[in-house]
Amino acid sequence: MISAWHDLLGNLGIVALFAAALAFGFDWIRQRSDWLQTAIIGTTAGACTCALLLMPITLQPGVIYDLRAVPVALAGFLWSPPAAVIAGVMAAICRVYLGGVGAAPAVFGMLVIVVTSIVGWMMLRGRAPTLRDMVLFGIAAAAASMSGWFATPPEIWQAALPKIGLPGVTLVFVAVVVAGTGMIAERRRRATAWENQVYRAVIDAMPEPISAKDVDGRFIAANPATAELMLASGPAALLGKTDHDFYPLDVASAFRADELSAIKSGKVMLIEQRAKRRDGSEVWLATLKAPLHGSDGTIVGLLTHNRDISELKVLEAQHEEAQRQLADALASMADGLVMFDRRQRLVLCNDRYREIFAKTAHLRVPGTPFADILRASIASGEQAGILPGQEEAWIARTCASLATSGEDIIELSGDRWFHTRVRLTADGGSLSVLSDVTEARRTQRQLSELNQQLAALARIDSLTGLTNRRAFDTALATEFSRSARAGTPLSLMFLDVDHFKIYNDAHGHPAGDGCLRAVARVIGDEMKRPGDLAARYGGEEFVAILPQTDMRGAAALAEMIRQRVRHLAIPNASTPAGIVTVSIGIATREGSASEITGEELVARADKALYAAKAAGRDRVMPSVPRLVNTGADSPTQAAAGGG
Ligand code: GH3
Ligand code: MG
Ligand code: MG
Repeated sequence: MISAWHDLLGNLGIVALFAAALAFGFDWIRQRSDWLQTAIIGTTAGACTCALLLMPITLQPGVIYDLRAVPVALAGFLWSPPAAVIAGVMAAICRVYLGGVGAAPAVFGMLVIVVTSIVGWMMLRGRAPTLRDMVLFGIAAAAASMSGWFATPPEIWQAALPKIGLPGVTLVFVAVVVAGTGMIAERRRRATAWENQVYRAVIDAMPEPISAKDVDGRFIAANPATAELMLASGPAALLGKTDHDFYPLDVASAFRADELSAIKSGKVMLIEQRAKRRDGSEVWLATLKAPLHGSDGTIVGLLTHNRDISELKVLEAQHEEAQRQLADALASMADGLVMFDRRQRLVLCNDRYREIFAKTAHLRVPGTPFADILRASIASGEQAGILPGQEEAWIARTCASLATSGEDIIELSGDRWFHTRVRLTADGGSLSVLSDVTEARRTQRQLSELNQQLAALARIDSLTGLTNRRAFDTALATEFSRSARAGTPLSLMFLDVDHFKIYNDAHGHPAGDGCLRAVARVIGDEMKRPGDLAARYGGEEFVAILPQTDMRGAAALAEMIRQRVRHLAIPNASTPAGIVTVSIGIATREGSASEITGEELVARADKALYAAKAAGRDRVMPSVPRLVNTGADSPTQAAAGGG
């Protein structure tokens, strides 16, 4: 019996060898294809079983006991059903080859073991077995290992089981659990080692510095990028060292302070910092510090990930500078500038723009829709020239104007005028520039007023204040054609001061001018109808256009003027009356007479004047040589009488 147990120990040794072989060969096996892995595991387990069969406990000739169940069960449970089948078939062949009365029941027993391992494998559903799984499977495998016995004749198993039943079951159970657990642990260790190797390779290859330190700030791991950043020869040179060994004291102390606060808070910290290195160079780092937890949850160190953001910082500085310059430029602009996006929301504007629209400046900020701004602007009374009820239409029109490039003049309250230029931007928005043209507008208005004054002056005779000759010519043409069109009468009066040369000679030119002004005043005063126009024709000759006035009316008016000049009683010794008198010739274009021209009308009136002079002066003479009865005491009558 002692030697029998020796054989069983040999069995255990073979099982241990099997487990060890698979464990050590794990890495190699894993790199093979799936079917090759199965074949290797299956044949290894099968070979192991055969070896076990060769050193069994011989209970009686042809009846043996061994641990053949263990490798087959493990191959199926831990690997795959085909592996169990391969091992099982090999074991069955081997057992049949050995022969004896136990051979046939042993084949049956092997089948039960294979099936048990496959059922166990299926129940795992692909997950890694836990210790509990392993124990449960150990029990099942141990039970299955006994199944062959019950296929033997009763006298055999009744004789055998009392001897090897309990120790045999126990041994199979222990062997399956121990070898299986060992294989799982090794497999996990190998897998973890492989993962570590992969992580290590990834971290080493990373261009960004990653390192781990213990709570005292000593490096426990670092990648080459960390060494490069810290100007160290390699990652190994960092191990066991602290930042104080690589950075100036102040920098290292600041780093350490950050680390301590990260350890204290237990939270992930993100810091942007400028690091000055031993060689004097500077780098900007975005540093992430995360606490490193031990298996018991306590903080055992710190993980640090750095990103060199020096270039980013340079770009940021350049961007800020450009922004500042742009802001300066916008602020110093004399024009208002505003930019809207394609949805007509304000994007950017300068201070000048807000100054122009002071009442709605608070709304003229990025994000405000243009329509809202315009609505508020109308409500504030900032906009001018919008008719009541037209507000929304105006807003729609103004918003639409942002969609096309163009120029316009807008009026704001307080008589302020702005020239606007809209240009479309590449992104579908618009840029508008508003230039103050209020001054230009005022100057323009003044100029046009001045022009009107000048035009008026150009129509006036400076001595008498009556219309001048040129304006008279124009007015006559206008009135003449109006009269011709309407078929209304038009009269023309020609007036000349009598013996004025002598008056001038006697009293001097300044007095003569005063006399002319007095006569002009009389004529001007008599021009009562809106269409009447008196003009100085030249020298001391005056002319008057009298629209819609027939000969009778014109003669009455002329007579009135003649008498009022007499009433002035300006002394003129050279006239029979001893005072300044005037002679007046009249011509009329009757409504029906269409053949006469303007020049002819002037010529006729002039001729009538000549006739008045010839008839003795101080009288009114119509162009038709007949006397006009203007009442008693009339010099006209005297002329008619005397000639
Ligand atoms: P008659 O009764 O025939 O008209 O005699 P008259 O002396 O008035 O003759 P005439 O019409 O030819 O004289 C024009 C004079 O009027 C000549 C000039 O001395 C004077 N005269 C013309 N223009 C002006 C003027 O602007 N100011 C002054 N003071 N005298 C003027
Ligand atoms: Mg004259
Ligand atoms: Mg005269």
